[in-house]
Amino acid sequence: MMTSCAEGEEIVLRLTPPIFSDETVLQSVTCTRPMREGKFNISSEQIGSKRVVTCAGHGGSGWATLFGSVERAIRLFEEAGETKAPICVVGSGCIGLVTAIELVRRGYTVSKILTKEIYDTTSWRAGGYCAMVSVKTSPEEQANLDRIGEETFAVYQQIDRGEHPYVPKQAVRKTPVFSHMSTETGLEDLVARGLIPPLTRVALDFGEGVIHPNYVRYETYFLEATLLMRAFLAEIERLRIGIEIKKLNDFEEVAEPVIFNCTGIGARELLGDNKMIPVRGHLFLLSPEAGVGHMNYMIYTTVEQDGKEEYIYLFPKRVAVSASHPEGIGCRGIIGGTFIPHADRLSPSDLEELDRLEFKKMFDRTRRFFSGR
Ligand SMILES: Cc1cc2nc3c(=O)[nH]c(=O)nc-3n(C[C@H](O)[C@H](O)[C@H](O)COP(=O)(O)OP(=O)(O)OC[C@H]3O[C@@H](n4cnc5c(N)ncnc54)[C@H](O)[C@@H]3O)c2cc1C
Repeated sequence: MMTSCAEGEEIVLRLTPPIFSDETVLQSVTCTRPMREGKFNISSEQIGSKRVVTCAGHGGSGWATLFGSVERAIRLFEEAGETKAPICVVGSGCIGLVTAIELVRRGYTVSKILTKEIYDTTSWRAGGYCAMVSVKTSPEEQANLDRIGEETFAVYQQIDRGEHPYVPKQAVRKTPVFSHMSTETGLEDLVARGLIPPLTRVALDFGEGVIHPNYVRYETYFLEATLLMRAFLAEIERLRIGIEIKKLNDFEEVAEPVIFNCTGIGARELLGDNKMIPVRGHLFLLSPEAGVGHMNYMIYTTVEQDGKEEYIYLFPKRVAVSASHPEGIGCRGIIGGTFIPHADRLSPSDLEELDRLEFKKMFDRTRRFFSGR
């Protein structure tokens, strides 16, 4: 892969790009990140007759902060001291599923998971980049968030060593990621804490004269969200925790006195929390015809397009799950991306137009990035 390296110079890396064309785009997908302004909502409060422990608002980093967030929410619940009561977990994204499992593992009674939807959720659609992106954190909250990230990273290391009690080793793998020097990668804190190696300067050579200088190489985990979600669901089944499909409109509709509210963007409506911001993302699923040479690295970078900074990411996802394909469809990576806040304020026709434009722009910049055309 490495073709030249002189003292003090950029290392030129020869990378195989994905074959990217109309023919290799299997699906164009939109999805919403549940981002909370200022900080995640990890809280415990009395609402009417219910003790409600909320764990929501993880933006584009729900996977990168999963285990540390759940741990914190359970600690708050324990501090409230009502630990014998039966619990209903609301929401079946990664946060809800891990919350239910971890509560049972600690000896609590989870009578059920109540959820609007199992497969059509953000958690299944995620890229799988273990880094802090699309989180809007106030400075006084930063240290807290960094600790949550660190605790979560430690669990991914445990999975990687094959020592996790319910997630197989194959669900995560250390993978290089390439970004332009000017891009905030969300990995800076992991480097500062010595959890991942420091960056190296590189130039990316995609062949046929397509070379991008001034890039950096990091290495972090690629998280195979589909395998992780399947492992969580298998554990939920093994623990005999029932899943009921129902949209909750009011906490009083639940019989249990304790509720873990893991509803992602749904928490905005349930709690009347205007700090919850839906951040729309667009991505392409690549078909098997896109090749395999790009499945051993990640891209997370900004590029200039029409005078603006736009994102390109590539994550080597292998199976994509949705409500129409709960069994999963094989893919050769996903390409994004966009981070568009408040798209929910648009009318249906304006939203349709936004999606059309964003997919077109994303297609054009991705093709130029990998093939120079
Ligand atoms: C395009 C994209 C790429 C991403 N890539 C990454 C990445 O690379 N790395 C990373 O760390 N993160 C990534 N994320 C973010 C990550 O996916 C989310 O932060 C995470 O999935 C949030 O998990 P969650 O369980 O809170 O929410 P969700 O997965 O949205 O689950 C919420 C659950 O609550 C249920 N629910 C909501 N309202 C109600 C209600 N009223 N009643 C009953 N049930 C309800 C829903 O049906 C759902 O089951 C990405 C997100 C997007 C959109």
